[in-house]
Amino acid sequence: MKQIVDSARRAFMTGKTRSIDFRIQQLKALKQMFTEHENDIVKALKADLNKSYCNAYAYEIMGVMGEIRLAIESLPEWTAQQHVKKNITTMQDDVYIKYEPLGVTLIIGAWNYPLVVLLQPLVGAIAAGNAAVIKPSEVSENTAKLLENLIPHYLDKELYPIVNGGISETTELLAQRFDHIFYTGNTNVGKIIMLAASKFLTPVTLELGGKSPCYIDKNCDIDIASRRITWGKFANCGQTCIAPDYILCDKSIQDKLVEKIKETLKEFYGEDVKQSPDYERIINKRHFKRLLALMEGQRIVHGGTYDEETCYIEPTVIAEVNPESKIMQEEIFGPLLPILSVKNIDEAINFINAKEKPLALYVFSKDKKVINRMISETSSGGVTANDVIMHFTVNELPFGGVGHSGMGSYHGKHSFDTFSHKRGCLIKSLKMEGMNKIRYPPFSRKKLEW
Ligand code: NAD
Repeated sequence: MKQIVDSARRAFMTGKTRSIDFRIQQLKALKQMFTEHENDIVKALKADLNKSYCNAYAYEIMGVMGEIRLAIESLPEWTAQQHVKKNITTMQDDVYIKYEPLGVTLIIGAWNYPLVVLLQPLVGAIAAGNAAVIKPSEVSENTAKLLENLIPHYLDKELYPIVNGGISETTELLAQRFDHIFYTGNTNVGKIIMLAASKFLTPVTLELGGKSPCYIDKNCDIDIASRRITWGKFANCGQTCIAPDYILCDKSIQDKLVEKIKETLKEFYGEDVKQSPDYERIINKRHFKRLLALMEGQRIVHGGTYDEETCYIEPTVIAEVNPESKIMQEEIFGPLLPILSVKNIDEAINFINAKEKPLALYVFSKDKKVINRMISETSSGGVTANDVIMHFTVNELPFGGVGHSGMGSYHGKHSFDTFSHKRGCLIKSLKMEGMNKIRYPPFSRKKLEW
């Protein structure tokens, strides 16, 4: 690991990443990797998570390609010196912010969207002129292996090495010195990353998880709410960091909500979800068993069937969930949707604020006041009102968590900022030295009054 990181540092120190043309060339090469190996990528995602071609394309490939396109288009603007407002003492000078690369970065990905969470940050790291050691999740092993084979054929091998492995390899990597660590994964490992980074005062971006709540106001379009929630909750078999984790709503709308979710599930996945090419599988047996344990003793109003052999769990809706039960203590990260009763928005806000700050928060209402109250009286990484997930797709918005759901953000220009140091630069004029004399000794009251 030391050799890999040292070699990335040596390559970085040559200064070749300072050239905008070089960065653009690397980004174009990454894009080419996608176009030339789309089928291999789709196959690997199918093997890891049973992603269909459309899901792989829409949720993984398009996301990364969009970020590459934006970075290539915007690099001249993003890297330009940013001149700032001058005052009387800097009138004759050049005063600007220069974006400079941080150095050698480490990007550690998770398994649920194994391309997006690894390569979207990489686009930011390359665009900002850094070297990056790339560490895919070992859990999505097919995608990890494919990337290990492909990336060295497209990107500079020294600057962008890819390291595969599990906890021991990552631990060894974390013992090296980096200039930034960008980690996506669970909150417990997030703490390990931060501890390791503190040894070298390395800044970190932590893209973590948590329980993202979804409040449904009585005054909302239940048809639309049910469709959008069903889509966002059960896409990727619930293994989405910003999937609505649980629903809070008044008891009076719950029966209708459950009926609408059932109808929508039939429309999306047909009579037998197991046969649908659009429904993924749980990543492995460990997570499968964890999810079965969360279902135990719950009042299942829809779904609940499973098949251990293929890691299949049917989209499942659970009603009258006790807030103290296990399913409400940890991020579900699977196709189980608990519904909890709250009498009104005040109770919902209190419930949300009593937990750790979530990565995302959702509110459905026709009343703007309800939406505004939910946004201003709670905190979360991001918010979407009257839909779920969609704030992730707006690359003008910073994407990231707050508190236990993470720190720092990325997407679009925000990724470039995350991987850059904003250097304050002042180029003084040699003129008007007479005026400067007031700051040199010997001091006198007269000088101050001047
Ligand atoms: P994971 O098991 O793939 O772990 C993530 C990475 O951490 C892997 O590369 C793994 O090798 C490394 N790792 C695991 N244990 C480690 C240890 N002890 N020391 C050092 N490195 C270690 O993924 P996961 O954690 O199961 O991912 C799911 C979590 O990630 C969920 O909480 C989800 O919400 C979150 N997530 C967040 C985002 C986001 O953008 N905020 C995106 C995807 C997933």
